[in-house]
Amino acid sequence: MKLSTLFSDKLSLSFEVFPPKTNSSFDSVKFATEEIAKLRPSFMSVTYGAGGGTSEYTLEIAKNIKYQYGVPTLAHLTCVSSTRETVRERLLKMHEAGIENVMALRGDLTPELMETDRSKWDYRYAVDLIRDIKESGYDFCIGGACYPEIHPESANQKEDIKHLKEKVDAGCQFLTTQMFFDNNLLYNFLYKIREAGITVPVIPGIMPITNANQLDRAIHLSESFIPQRFKSLVDKFGSSPDAMKQAGIAYATDQIIDLFANGIKNVHIYSMNNPDVAQKIQSNLSDIISPL
Ligand code: FAD
Repeated sequence: MKLSTLFSDKLSLSFEVFPPKTNSSFDSVKFATEEIAKLRPSFMSVTYGAGGGTSEYTLEIAKNIKYQYGVPTLAHLTCVSSTRETVRERLLKMHEAGIENVMALRGDLTPELMETDRSKWDYRYAVDLIRDIKESGYDFCIGGACYPEIHPESANQKEDIKHLKEKVDAGCQFLTTQMFFDNNLLYNFLYKIREAGITVPVIPGIMPITNANQLDRAIHLSESFIPQRFKSLVDKFGSSPDAMKQAGIAYATDQIIDLFANGIKNVHIYSMNNPDVAQKIQSNLSDIISPL
């Protein structure tokens, strides 16, 4: 099922899983995926290792989600440091596997990649990948990433939104946001992108923070603003794993309810291969959302 047909009036949740780094952890990821799929989310996304090391797993897991568990799937694909040939091969494999939805991403620039001569790369930005996917002729529904708090490499929000519009004009049919912990940042962002003529559906991404270390990693990765209300919660409960988990899930649930109350239809949860967290959030919203 193409995700572009999913964005209706129903309120729903979707979940993200990430592939294993090694063969030995494949079974535990498979189990987590299956448990999350049992919640009948509107779709499940599978991330892609920028270095390409886990690319086969991404496809394998995405296929399982679609064919074994009957849940619509979104396979991520990054292009940074890839050649056109590799990308074409991946697209062919995805097409042959029946994947209908692709999240087209640039991928993060690691310190090693930063030192290479980028002028020689086939792909510099996600928009190059989106154009190639369109040119490939495969009829994928294409998603892209967006940043309510500005992508860390952008000079300012105006530039960032200008480049976001280029992705949409190139064929991106929906956008998923980077995590954020203050919904007002998303509402301001939505106002600005609509004003800039970006009209495709935007799926807010929510990261339930269930331990204090995870918060440090998340901030490092996304440079997200942490509201005082959330900092107090971590100060108070961060050293008690069960309490922090409960408080983090409650905070994420509260964010999601506010998003639904303000017109958002689908919220994507960065569930970190953690079925327990996904189940608890879904259960908190059982009378609000409509599973598949
Ligand atoms: P782009 O859209 O290319 O943007 C990157 C930067 O370049 C931005 O600052 C943008 O403003 C700027 N830019 C774009 N076009 C131009 C231009 N023409 N000229 C000048 N500047 C330009 N990473 C993974 O490795 N695997 C994943 O599966 C993955 N999934 C993700 C899912 C979501 C929802 C999000 C938000 C991020 C994900 N990432 C993933 C991380 C992502 O790869 C990084 O955030 C990366 O740094 C940017 O990717 P992008 O696709 O947004 O890049």
